[in-house]
Amino acid sequence: MYAIVDIETTGGYASGNNITEIAIFRFDGKKVVDCYHTLINPEQRIPVFITSLTGITTEMVEAAPTFAEVAQDILDFTEGCIFVAHNVNFDFTFLKQSFKSLDMSFERKKLCTVRLSRKIFPQLPSYSLGNLCGSLNIEITDRHRAKGDAGATVKLLQLLLEHDKEQFIEKSLHKNSRETLLPAHLPREQFDALPEEPGVYYFHDHKSKVIYVGKAINIKKRVVSHFSGKQNSKQSQRFMNEIYSISFERCGSELVALLLESHEIKKYWPAYNRSQKRVTKNYCIYQYTDQQGYARLSVGLIQKFQQSLLSFRTALEARDFLLASVHEHQLCGRLCGLHKTSVSCSDALIVDRCKVCAQGEDAARYNKKVARAVHAFSEQQVTLAIKEKGRSNEEYSIVLMESGKYLGYGFVPQEIQSTTFDELKTYIHPYQDNQDVRRIIESFTYTADDSSVIYF
Ligand SMILES: [Zn+2]
Repeated sequence: MYAIVDIETTGGYASGNNITEIAIFRFDGKKVVDCYHTLINPEQRIPVFITSLTGITTEMVEAAPTFAEVAQDILDFTEGCIFVAHNVNFDFTFLKQSFKSLDMSFERKKLCTVRLSRKIFPQLPSYSLGNLCGSLNIEITDRHRAKGDAGATVKLLQLLLEHDKEQFIEKSLHKNSRETLLPAHLPREQFDALPEEPGVYYFHDHKSKVIYVGKAINIKKRVVSHFSGKQNSKQSQRFMNEIYSISFERCGSELVALLLESHEIKKYWPAYNRSQKRVTKNYCIYQYTDQQGYARLSVGLIQKFQQSLLSFRTALEARDFLLASVHEHQLCGRLCGLHKTSVSCSDALIVDRCKVCAQGEDAARYNKKVARAVHAFSEQQVTLAIKEKGRSNEEYSIVLMESGKYLGYGFVPQEIQSTTFDELKTYIHPYQDNQDVRRIIESFTYTADDSSVIYF
């Protein structure tokens, strides 16, 4: 027995919204044997835009029973039935959430007529209920009311049963209950093709645009965890509905996956990677030339498109380092922003013997000292290669950092073992250096066993 369900609600997501109407048809596969229909008092106002869509007003539901009053009826009516709806996760999640708020559990086998339609009637222009009914000549009355939509879904299910030559319905009921957990628009074959290996995966929307990038030690397991979580928040329901395809890139190791993920997030700025969009606040020493031609060093926040000479966690650390360099290389504290430009080094008591302030040293001479200081910065910075697993036994992965700057990663055939840094460079795909990837590599080298990190 099937229970074909449609609900109307006060909004598009289960948390914070309630059900205003429910219609359930019990259908034995041939004919409708029973129907349950009621308006439900959502105990909150129905937003105007919802009313304009469904025609259900706050006044209409005032005298209707609350969900608590009909919960047992719904439980009884759908008992032992396969729960069917157009985009079943929406209706099911809403109901499950409503039951949960009453401390009642709600478990049913599920079928999704969106997913089934995509399989049994492939290549239709749209799988929205209205458009499907148009394409398949199903008469639909009372669009966007529970009884009208559920009635049309019954006719749709009937057509699906009749045309299901490859037994998709049977398969999705028995083969694997995971089917309905997948986003409605995502082809199962794409999910099945995901490897159980380290790498980066991408969720795409209907225009193939990347809307989320993630990294994983096991791509398939990680993707499953996206789909099996609670899908009752506004964001996660919208997210699930926007996923039309998945692609992936195998990386061999978690480190490479982390680096690629960081690069791809910066490249695509996917809508659902919000947590990682924050620009990490960090301080750096950077260099510029002033109008008099003097090379200036300065401590500042790292800017996205600015190349820094050296970076630090705090402004104080950066300033201390700069101060030490100023002393060591006899630079001008004023030109390095260590004190106000109106105050000379001898008055500021930070640097004595400053030749710029005391003797008016010219830019050409002074800049040579700055260049020496900057060169000393780069000697602070390591050149290293990290060797880790490749995508197969025939190769290993390498991540290269030169003078503290990330160069990129690549894969080297297993038979090539002892190599120079320059030789390793020929195997990598160059990637943009930035603070985030430096930090990923830095924290890896702190914890990695020595055999995988080679210093040059
Ligand atoms: Zn000075």
